[in-house]
Amino acid sequence: MRIADLLARGRTYSFEFFPPKTDEAQAQLATTISELAPLKPSFFSVTYGALGSTRTRTRDVVVQLARSGGIPPMAHLTCVGHLRSEIDLLLGEYKAAGVENILALGGDVPADPSQLGPSDFTHALDLVEHLRENFDVSIGVAAHPELHPRSPSRESDRTHLAAKLRRADFAMTQFFFEVQHYTRLVDELAALGVHKPVVPGVMPVTNKGQIVKMAQMSGAAIPGWLSDRLAKFDDPADIRRVGVEVATKLSSELLAAGAPGLHFYTLNRSTATREIYSNLGLDRG
Ligand code: FAD
Repeated sequence: MRIADLLARGRTYSFEFFPPKTDEAQAQLATTISELAPLKPSFFSVTYGALGSTRTRTRDVVVQLARSGGIPPMAHLTCVGHLRSEIDLLLGEYKAAGVENILALGGDVPADPSQLGPSDFTHALDLVEHLRENFDVSIGVAAHPELHPRSPSRESDRTHLAAKLRRADFAMTQFFFEVQHYTRLVDELAALGVHKPVVPGVMPVTNKGQIVKMAQMSGAAIPGWLSDRLAKFDDPADIRRVGVEVATKLSSELLAAGAPGLHFYTLNRSTATREIYSNLGLDRG
């Protein structure tokens, strides 16, 4: 199933995983997938690292999901450190396995950039163009409601986003905690004549230290009201309870604002996502 077609039919609900590095993490992911599949999401997505071993791990998870014939997968794919020939080889493997959805990304440079090979593509748009011209896949791109950390201005961020979204089928956002970041992004794209679906990404906070680090990397702000609430707790169960409550409220505001779907960052765990799903009544069909 192509995500472009799923979005044309109605709202999509999707769950994101990262490829496991160890046998234990592999078993954890298998459990998470088996716990989330009964919620009948529209698709699963699997993140991608630019370095050799992470590339093959992503491919293996995506191919396995596609071959299982259950929930369709979307493979993340990045520009950094990739030659055209490497992208084409991977896309050939995806085609053979029946993978029809790619999230085309600029990619984050790893901590040690010397490990990266040469790149034929600079920006995500270059990869989108290459996929569009050579492969029959549904293409998503990344959007950053609070601006990409490297964007010199709001105008520049939105202009480049609009250019890649004109060629792609849909966008998927970085996480954020206040609905107005999303509605402003959608309005700014509309003002540039771009009306393609923008699916918001929702991250339930389950760990204080982790969310601070991830927000710093991605350009998302943790609002004062949220840090104040989290500061009152240390017990992981309390943190998760607050995280689920905040994510439930945000998800419901996003749906009320007309979002074409919700994409949950699961961090390979199912509990918080299942609780939000249940709070929203989505588990009842
Ligand atoms: P781009 O669209 O290339 O944009 C990056 C910056 O360049 C922006 O500031 C943009 O405004 C600017 N820019 C774009 N075009 C031009 C131009 N022609 N001239 C000048 N400036 C330009 N990273 C991973 O490594 N693996 C993943 O699996 C992954 N999954 C993600 C999933 C989602 C939903 C999101 C939102 C992000 C994900 N990321 C992932 C992170 C992403 O790779 C980084 O944010 C990366 O730094 C930028 O990616 P991009 O696709 O937005 O790049």
